[in-house]
Amino acid sequence: MIEEGVIRVATPEEMRELGRLLGEELRPGDTICLRGDLGAGKTTLTQGIAAGMGTSGTVASPTFTLVHEHPGKVPLFHMDAYRLDSAEELWDLGFDDYLRAGGVVVIEWGERVSEALPDDRLTLALAHAGDARLVSILAHGERARELESILRAKWGAREVA
Ligand code: ADP
Ligand code: MG
Repeated sequence: MIEEGVIRVATPEEMRELGRLLGEELRPGDTICLRGDLGAGKTTLTQGIAAGMGTSGTVASPTFTLVHEHPGKVPLFHMDAYRLDSAEELWDLGFDDYLRAGGVVVIEWGERVSEALPDDRLTLALAHAGDARLVSILAHGERARELESILRAKWGAREVA
């Protein structure tokens, strides 16, 4: 196995930049799963994704509302599974409808409900490293692998620039 490079993100602004580079590439049906402890930067990354997608509305944590809808050319459904205990609870809340709505789903704490997630999904696992954050990319499926390679290329080009 080739060891995949972990991305080091030094500041919240850089986390938003990483999200923006990804958000620019997203299209209807893409699912992004965000892992990481409280404060790891999942919502901050999602702010960047929304900026890259050009959606409207302020991105804030949907912990208590489960889902925030951000209209756009392609809508963003920003979800948070922190308070969910099973994949079934996600289905009960109409997750199916969001998946079929022609938008992008970004779900924080997605690993809590992984059985409910589409097989093809890009997981970004965020970890604290002092003030910095380490972002590991886990791609499940062909589209996710495509997104991973695009994101790595764009991030690499940015560091060289
Ligand atoms: P989560 O959604 O994972 O709970 P948030 O994005 O809401 O995390 O919060 C992350 C917090 O950590 C924010 O207050 C942000 O400003 C701060 N922070 C500090 N350094 C970083 C960094 N390198 N990347 C992302 N967030 C950072
Ligand atoms: Mg959050």
